[in-house]
Amino acid sequence: MKVLVVGGGGREHAIVWKVAQSPKVDKIYCAPGNAGIAELAECVDIGAMEFDKLVTFAKEKEVDLTIVGMDDPLVGGIVDAFEEAGLRVFGPRKNAAILEGSKAFSKMLMKKYEIPTAGYETFSEPDKVIEYCKNNNKFPIVLKADGLALGKGVLICENMEEVEAGVKELMIDKKFGSAGDEIVVEDFMTGREVSVLSFVDGNIVKTMASAQDHKRAKDGDEGLNTGGMGNFSPTPFYTKEVEEFCNKYIFQPTVDAMKAEGRPFKGIIFFGLMLTPEGPKVLEYNARFGDPEAQVVLPRMKNDIIDVVEACIDGTLDQIDLQFTEEACVTVVLASDGYPLAYEKGLPIRGLENFKDKEGYYVFHAGTKFNEKGEVVTNGGRVLDVTALGKDLKEARANAYKAVEWVDFDNKYFRHDIGHAIDEYKG
Ligand code: ATP
Repeated sequence: MKVLVVGGGGREHAIVWKVAQSPKVDKIYCAPGNAGIAELAECVDIGAMEFDKLVTFAKEKEVDLTIVGMDDPLVGGIVDAFEEAGLRVFGPRKNAAILEGSKAFSKMLMKKYEIPTAGYETFSEPDKVIEYCKNNNKFPIVLKADGLALGKGVLICENMEEVEAGVKELMIDKKFGSAGDEIVVEDFMTGREVSVLSFVDGNIVKTMASAQDHKRAKDGDEGLNTGGMGNFSPTPFYTKEVEEFCNKYIFQPTVDAMKAEGRPFKGIIFFGLMLTPEGPKVLEYNARFGDPEAQVVLPRMKNDIIDVVEACIDGTLDQIDLQFTEEACVTVVLASDGYPLAYEKGLPIRGLENFKDKEGYYVFHAGTKFNEKGEVVTNGGRVLDVTALGKDLKEARANAYKAVEWVDFDNKYFRHDIGHAIDEYKG
């Protein structure tokens, strides 16, 4: 079978790595891919938003299955484009990817179907936001751009000055373009954040292992928000009790709600949850694997990913016994100093060969490429995701930090406290 994976980050490297283990697969393409993915797949120089070119390529090469890793093409309708061309593809159609693509939609859905989430209002006029926040007079309050904004469209405002500055940034200056045409004003929630990834076949949902992200750039959860600086799985805070609550009130109800809206969801739903004092609530939905959640969840997955993906497409997920190992997994992101702001690219990476034949250790490439000399060089803010398994979280974390020393590049930057929550667990 021939598989095409769309994307070129650490998440797609983890997906390609998992696909490569399937005995059903004899050829993998990745568009656009990166230097690490190139070891397992033939990288194709087509951007993830170039749907026509991707469809033509998939037809030409007789690709049997396409897996889309990224949010932008999903929200933009890549699945519809492939389906219209008669191609088999894994991911939600445009009318279902709106679950991630529009926060106004996802909040409406949760309200209508009584799925626990923070209280909110939606506005399309700047003055109305300011009036609402003034009258509400409860701080902090959260402003969210409706559309995709690379995780940067969420502002937590401590006072009216910050609300006014936020409204200007999102709605007037349009820092994220049309993503800020509408904004959601949401009540602030407190608690611990956990992520749960799941496979969905239009009718039923099967959850994967839980994970926990570290969004801030600096140790101690300080500094700017990033795409994620590290992750671990499972998180001890996702207890049996929390799981039962989420199964009953969040996971399946979301899938049922999408179906009831005439937007059946097939693909991955990433549930971003806040474990508040009143119980778990939905912070956000994503319509694809998280990055770097995929990097800690997929190494623990026992199933052949092709079987699961095909079951989602065919609506037969009930026949899959989804299983994960008892091990824990930790990933530490190696970034280029300066990320998420300005950083240098093109710096040679040394030591990648140290991961060869080391069972339970992985180096997923997030932003790398080959230079003219054929060397692997940095090509993004997040460069490598150093990942390790262990018998428990503490061992996995120690292994990941050991492996961080195996690779090097100028301006290498990483957080030293990935997994600190493990020590805070008093369960
Ligand atoms: P990404 O897709 O990168 O996770 P996003 O743009 O979809 O980001 P959200 O996940 O909705 O944004 O919010 C980003 C972060 O802001 C959350 O992970 C959480 O830490 C914080 N946040 C969002 N909403 C709230 C809220 N209501 N109360 C408290 N914190 C919040």
